[in-house]
Amino acid sequence: MTNQRPSSTKVVDEPFKHVIDEYKHKLQRVTCTCGWQGSSASPDGVSSEWKTHHVSHRPPGSSKR
Ligand SMILES: [Zn+2]
Repeated sequence: MTNQRPSSTKVVDEPFKHVIDEYKHKLQRVTCTCGWQGSSASPDGVSSEWKTHHVSHRPPGSSKR
């Protein structure tokens, strides 16, 4: 068999990304991979603490404007 195994080893060369590390659904509480904790609840359906954090740490060049 020459099938490639699903990558079980993590690539460590990637740049640090702010992604949800842990998400507590009931509490709508997320823990970021950087250690940040906050709410993912969005009262207005648009913004949330998590979104604000995620966007503010977005790598430059990934925004469209
Ligand atoms: Zn973060």
